[in-house]
Amino acid sequence: MVKLRNPQNEHRERFKNAQLAHTGTRGDDMQEKPYFCPNCRSNRIKFSVITSYSQSFLKDALSGNITEFKDPDAIAEPEPTIQCLVCSFTGNELRFIKQAEREPRMNSSTTPHY
Ligand SMILES: [Zn+2]
Repeated sequence: MVKLRNPQNEHRERFKNAQLAHTGTRGDDMQEKPYFCPNCRSNRIKFSVITSYSQSFLKDALSGNITEFKDPDAIAEPEPTIQCLVCSFTGNELRFIKQAEREPRMNSSTTPHY
């Protein structure tokens, strides 16, 4: 299996696959639970979901040119990988959920609203 970034299609394909995931056709749906970054412990709002794709392609053996791209396939993972957009920490979704459960947001908190 070869991982390859294809800049021209990447964004569109990611979006398409994200939509698929959201409709429950894949097993890696994100949970609708609060997240809290266990690293910087200041972010509950801004995250990114990391998904790996495999895209096979054919190469010309002499010139090295890529002659054909297959459709990318999302690599199935047991749970989504989440990235904190504040400190760039990346970890399993469960770590973010557990941290939020340990330190639930207080109504009286002085944390500013975004
Ligand atoms: Zn963070």
